[in-house]
Amino acid sequence: MITVITFNPSIDRLYKLDTFEVGKVQRAGFVNPTAGGKGLNVSKVIKKLGETPTCLGFLGGYNGEYIKNQIEKIGVNNEFINIDGETRICLNIIDSNGVSTEILEKGPIVSQKYIKYFEDRLDEILRKTEVLVASGSLAQGLPIDYYKTIGDKCRENGVKYILDTSGLALEHAINTDIYLIKPNTDELGSITNRKIDTLDDVVEAGKVLLGKNIENICVSMGKDGMVLLSKDSIYEVQIPEIDVLNPVGSGDSSVAGFAYGLSKKYDLIECLRLANACGISNALHNETGDIELSDIYKFTTQIKIKQYSLQTYITMNKKTNNKDKMINTY
Ligand code: ADP
Repeated sequence: MITVITFNPSIDRLYKLDTFEVGKVQRAGFVNPTAGGKGLNVSKVIKKLGETPTCLGFLGGYNGEYIKNQIEKIGVNNEFINIDGETRICLNIIDSNGVSTEILEKGPIVSQKYIKYFEDRLDEILRKTEVLVASGSLAQGLPIDYYKTIGDKCRENGVKYILDTSGLALEHAINTDIYLIKPNTDELGSITNRKIDTLDDVVEAGKVLLGKNIENICVSMGKDGMVLLSKDSIYEVQIPEIDVLNPVGSGDSSVAGFAYGLSKKYDLIECLRLANACGISNALHNETGDIELSDIYKFTTQIKIKQYSLQTYITMNKKTNNKDKMINTY
């Protein structure tokens, strides 16, 4: 079973305006509320791939009720804890030039009582879980190292832990056993204080984190595909060019693909193919966390993966052609 944690879900409201002017009354032509939060996108995509994930986190108030209804429509198992306070709303205002202005609420403060309810439920669920995905920001009230606490619980239960978060929440989590983290280039750059553009940059930055307890560092690079660093290998994923519609949620979709593959015991190469095919398919759809199975079949055959030995890559001269460092292609 796959379990997905979303601590701080939201209702995402998208307003499309001709022009956005500060200090004026504006009338929105198009409003599209959706149940948001990275973990909910992950859950939607896992469901589309054919597996029913179990979702948990915190929901409260009328907004929480709205999200609960949406979750029921998607058809995933709802194990969210009801809390006092109101689940947040996040606004995205887009003008006719595509310029986006976002207003993000912090979300409700979760009290100790509800954290305890959450942990009791999680302990039960982990006994039946093979892969746990934790995505997005921590809710207010949770300690900053709470993703480490989740990782410790996964280790005790032999559960593979995928963590997709950023900033301080990620920095405080990396001392527990994590099967996979999935930063994009900006996120990897910000936790390692570097600029990340090339494969060399990813390897240099990733090396620092591999020294911790992270088994796989999966760096998503938008249209440039993905690079995965493991203890002994580098996998460079090359993807086909597409006409993008909306890439928001592609990272969540690729996490979903990876988690699904792991739960089905696919090997690493097949997991990488599926993860990227899900990311690509999402970028071809307007809705966030939306994929098409026919895209998945098509793109998994078009994706090329190069494998390098990590040790050789690091020790060989930077000027050496990458071809000479390669040990396999898939
Ligand atoms: P995030 O949403 O976390 O920033 P990315 O934008 O890197 O994640 O996207 C995750 C994956 O989705 C990429 O590794 C790639 O496979 C696919 N993807 C994202 N953007 C594009 C794009 N413009 N064209 C093709 N594939 C894309």
